[in-house]
Amino acid sequence: MTNLDSPTAAIARLTDSASALDAADPLAAYRAEFLDTPGVVAYLDGNSLGRPLRATRCSLDRFVEDEWSARLIRGWDERWMSQPCAVGDRIASVLLGAAPGQTVVGDSTSVLIYKLVRAAIAAAPAGRDEIVVDTDNFPTDRFIVQGIADELGVTLRWIETDLLHGPQPRDVAAVAGPRTALVLLSHVSYRSAAIADMGAITAIAHEAGALMMWDLCHSAGAVPTELDAHGVDFAVGCTYKFLNGGPGAPAFAYVRAGLIGDIEQPVHGWMGAADPFEMGFAYTPAAGIGRMLSGTPAILAMQPMQDMLALLERAGIQAVRDKSIALTGFVLDFYDAVLEHLGFRLDSPRDATLRGAHVTLGHDQARELTAALWKQGVIPDFRTPNGIRVGLSPLSTSFAEVCAGLARLAGLAER
Ligand SMILES: *Cc1c(COP(=O)(O)O)cnc(C)c1O
Repeated sequence: MTNLDSPTAAIARLTDSASALDAADPLAAYRAEFLDTPGVVAYLDGNSLGRPLRATRCSLDRFVEDEWSARLIRGWDERWMSQPCAVGDRIASVLLGAAPGQTVVGDSTSVLIYKLVRAAIAAAPAGRDEIVVDTDNFPTDRFIVQGIADELGVTLRWIETDLLHGPQPRDVAAVAGPRTALVLLSHVSYRSAAIADMGAITAIAHEAGALMMWDLCHSAGAVPTELDAHGVDFAVGCTYKFLNGGPGAPAFAYVRAGLIGDIEQPVHGWMGAADPFEMGFAYTPAAGIGRMLSGTPAILAMQPMQDMLALLERAGIQAVRDKSIALTGFVLDFYDAVLEHLGFRLDSPRDATLRGAHVTLGHDQARELTAALWKQGVIPDFRTPNGIRVGLSPLSTSFAEVCAGLARLAGLAER
């Protein structure tokens, strides 16, 4: 029986099981599309920074030669001006369940949260002066709305989130009401990977007469969403995590088609204006989602994410999600057979339908263990207070790699 195995016997059995899972993995061939990193035994942090694709070396080279150098300033008219919306549409169709014309690639997630929250507050009817947020949302989300609350005098209604299960529909129902302008939550918790019930929570926000905004940083590229079907009003997400856009790649913003004409974001730059080259005196926002832009978009930094989008499109987001569930499920098997007996706790949901693309393992020495793993070429990340976050980017991670990494973790914890 599993639980009676010695750790060594259990790890041997799990190693066999990992090989079998890799052999049967329909997406296994995609791993060869990513560059190898010498000295790295297991990369378990693709949810913080995705690995580079081999194709990206060529596409950056091609961009420098064929677009930047060959076209120079003409590149803007010919291709680059339309790229923020074109890449946004592609993200929308491949990953978000959203029709074209509602998604744009722009600033960082933090800046887009600021712009969208300000736009939502400005669009809310008089008397709606509260934002519902949760205490365990990612720091930047909380800091940005705290800053906006100071700036505008709106009130924050905090949900005290359960750290393992994330914000629940009943939590939102308890605080949303006639004064709520906006509810802002993360779809997948950065800490535990708990998936929030997007449909139910969005419906509750709407029943209260509020707008709903989702942060998709830990969803985009790993957990599919149905933004249009759920009537979501706003969303933002990162592209350097599961979209492998590279460090600092710009984020995307989604605004529901029916709202775009009614919202105005606060940073009135020329690139979000109706006609940037009119060089007029007054600002008139662009008619479409392009109004979310402010200054010159980061075209160069939008190239790598397109290589990953092509891969995700080819693999299909549902197949990617299926592999993701199998990878996190393997971590759970390893936990049950080995790590639970070595002082670890499971700080992620056990139910696969409620679990995103990482697994957080609690341990009193999590910080020290993470540092020791890094020295051995096993790279997860540490998250306060005492979690080792095992991130599993589905297209670039093998079961054998996960098994090797966790075996080293077990070895360290056994000492
Ligand atoms: C990674 C992450 C961010 C990052 O925001 P940046 O502006 O790109 O630094 C924001 N929100 C969540 C939930 C994240 O996971």
